[in-house]
Amino acid sequence: MADINIKTIISSGNDEAAIEKASEILRQGGLVAFPTETVYGLGADALNEDASAKIYAAKGRPSDNPLIVHIADTKAVYELAESVPEKAVMLMEAFWPGPLTIILNKKKIVPDGTTGGLNTVAIRMPSHPVAMKLIKESGVYIAAPSANTSGRPSPTLAEHVIEDMNGRIDMILDGGVVGIGIESTIVDLTGEIPTILRPGYITRKMLEEIIGDVSIDRAIIEPDPNLRPKAPGMKYTHYAPKGEVTIVESEMTDVKEDHNLSAIDIKPESIKEDEIRPTDKKVIDKINSLVAEKTAQGFKTAVIATKDNAPYYNCDNVLIVGEADKGVTISANLYAILRKCDTIGAEYIYSEALNQNELGGAIMNRLLKAAGHRVIKVN
Ligand code: AMP
Ligand code: MG
Repeated sequence: MADINIKTIISSGNDEAAIEKASEILRQGGLVAFPTETVYGLGADALNEDASAKIYAAKGRPSDNPLIVHIADTKAVYELAESVPEKAVMLMEAFWPGPLTIILNKKKIVPDGTTGGLNTVAIRMPSHPVAMKLIKESGVYIAAPSANTSGRPSPTLAEHVIEDMNGRIDMILDGGVVGIGIESTIVDLTGEIPTILRPGYITRKMLEEIIGDVSIDRAIIEPDPNLRPKAPGMKYTHYAPKGEVTIVESEMTDVKEDHNLSAIDIKPESIKEDEIRPTDKKVIDKINSLVAEKTAQGFKTAVIATKDNAPYYNCDNVLIVGEADKGVTISANLYAILRKCDTIGAEYIYSEALNQNELGGAIMNRLLKAAGHRVIKVN
């Protein structure tokens, strides 16, 4: 068990002495939260079973949900994985360091406590300079899931980590706001055809350009309780604010059925000033009527909107998530906005579908989870 009520040291990730201290903590089996280019991670020595057990205790994470092992040198893959297929090497060369996690069969040195009892291991080389420095300086491979309390939105700022983890972990390295804002793409390379277990910044199209055919775990695109996701973590409710989230989507712009998980080919028509697309107008009207209804009943509401449409909502809390056609502006803001819904005490939250961009599949995967798959279609 992690010591609850320990004094958490909070330091800048750019401070050399802080990295040294954090490295020492990791070597001693303690917990350090640190920035990566995707979200903040909660790290422990991946090869020390007692250390990784503390991660589960601090997060309240179910013990069958394995951790990703973060490395700083590709040599580590050969120490951790039983075999390294050619396609894994191609992906490592193309996307590392970066937001791609690969699943390979594990070697014995990786404890069951790190892999949730699976005989496979998830490995990633992050590109964030603080993460890189910490892995190198500590000399340990760092097992790290997102540094949030289990079920809450992942942290994209050190403040989010402090909210969830202060007094539960040894140290937090503050690296400011992260760049991508949603977790890494996970690709399973243990089967015949590489399979995406979690969509992310690296899209199916980008992967296929390097290694040919890539499939997608169906359980992550179909909310069918009988389909068991291959990444154990994907079965849990996630990212959810306390209020009830509903997505309002135009039937005309649904790209979720496009199992490409990348909306790269779908470009919104250009929006002229003062002119809303008819499909957006229907969504706006529906959300405004839902907000009016709940406000009349005395509930606090919030709207998650793209920048272009934000001026047309009649709600006290219109939260602008980014520009409709720029995926990274949305992914970078999404979790902070879901957390903001809690800060303002929103009881009913209505969101536009955020699928009209190159990260549409990955973003909608998170938003649908936050909404418990509650979607209203308008036409
Ligand atoms: P987090 O870092 O919080 O995003 O959680 C790590 C994610 O990676 C979870 O969804 C896990 O289920 C998934 N994962 C980690 N290791 C494995 C593995 N060996 N096989 C499949 N999924 C994994
Ligand atoms: Mg997580």
